[in-house]
Amino acid sequence: MADTKIQMKTSLVEMDGDEMTRVIWQMIKDILILPFVDLKTEYYDLGLVHREETKDKVTFDSAEATKKYGVAVKCATITPNAARMPEYNLTEMWKSPNGTIRAKLDGTVFRTPIIVKGINPYIPAWKKPITVARHAYGDIYKNTEMSVKRGSKAELVVTDENGNETRELIHDFKGSDGIIQGVHNTDKSISSFARACFNYALDVKESLWFATKDTISKKYDHHFKDIFQEIFDAEYKENFDKAGIEYFYTLIDDAVSRVVRSEGGYIWACKNYDGDVMSDMVATAYGSLGMMSSVLVSPDGVYEYEAAHGTVQRHYYKHLKGERTSTNSVATIWAWTGALRKRGELDEIPELMNFAVKLEKAVIDTLESGIMTGDLYSLSDLADKKSVDTLTFLEEIKTRIV
Ligand code: NAP
Ligand code: MG
Repeated sequence: MADTKIQMKTSLVEMDGDEMTRVIWQMIKDILILPFVDLKTEYYDLGLVHREETKDKVTFDSAEATKKYGVAVKCATITPNAARMPEYNLTEMWKSPNGTIRAKLDGTVFRTPIIVKGINPYIPAWKKPITVARHAYGDIYKNTEMSVKRGSKAELVVTDENGNETRELIHDFKGSDGIIQGVHNTDKSISSFARACFNYALDVKESLWFATKDTISKKYDHHFKDIFQEIFDAEYKENFDKAGIEYFYTLIDDAVSRVVRSEGGYIWACKNYDGDVMSDMVATAYGSLGMMSSVLVSPDGVYEYEAAHGTVQRHYYKHLKGERTSTNSVATIWAWTGALRKRGELDEIPELMNFAVKLEKAVIDTLESGIMTGDLYSLSDLADKKSVDTLTFLEEIKTRIV
């Protein structure tokens, strides 16, 4: 088989990760990719052990490499919390690698469910995927918060470059202790978000919905709405018309209600917090987190592919005890096919693009023939279905790559 392997021209950036997904990562490569592709990657180990060893430098290096090569594939990684400090002997609670990479690439995350026969969304109206695009910068994720003592007065103060101050009262805490929060966003980041969404919509030829709470937040949220509209009118309207797709703005409450009643098949752009919450809602409603793919797209066209789920810690602890797990590898496989297809597209290697299509088809054929992991078994309404372990599932896929 060696001499028939597909050759690559440029490397893709490979970011390894943690726990069960790290185990699956190696299996996917060994069983589904290396026998078919002469894989060229620039490897970065983002596993927590190595992040600690490098004081997290490896994460920054991997983001730089992604900018250089243009395409990355990432395994799920642990975001340390208090419990992880003793578990991994950490000297610091290292930041979320995804957060670091998003910030470096100024990227927008698009999450799309993988739909197969037999696994029906909890919302029966949904026939096609709904892609949620999350603005991954600012708002409450870069906030400043304070507790405020009774008798205090809280103000917003902006000092311009000449030292002039503008003040607005937030609240006079006469009668009670309280809390305040300062958040921000930038025109640059909102514009990048808008362009990433419009470009992606044109790429996949689906309409784009955007919603905020602009009726209540007349400056902050309204500014998002204005920036989107200005960029759309000036740069995208014509191409949207040509492609037969639309840009549609509405109030977030109205959007939620329309989404539930829709049949899917569009991109839903969300502010940071809305995207965080709604993407989990949409993922759950489509079935399993194991079937949710994710890609981070920068405004200058850099792509980083990953699964939407985490490191599946509970399964990993079973795996460490020598038990067989039935962990769903589909979203992680989609990260690989996404990255290989994009690499093939950029480097003009049709065989590589074709391999990605064949591998995805083999996965779908496996699932639709009734062979699946435990998470899907409980959801599937196929009459003839079988729950298999992590390794068997991948081997079954391999037999279907033609
Ligand atoms: P998780 O890894 O997404 O898993 C949560 C639960 O969802 C699992 O226990 C499992 O349910 C189910 N699940 C998720 N993915 C699955 C799959 N592929 N196959 C089968 N079942 C799946 O979230 P978590 O356990 O809350 O987080 C674990 C670690 O992941 C944390 O350290 C967190 O920081 C990290 N994380 C990383 C990313 C990322 O790198 N993008 C994203 C989220 C979380 P059952 O146990 O009921 O089977
Ligand atoms: Mg979330």
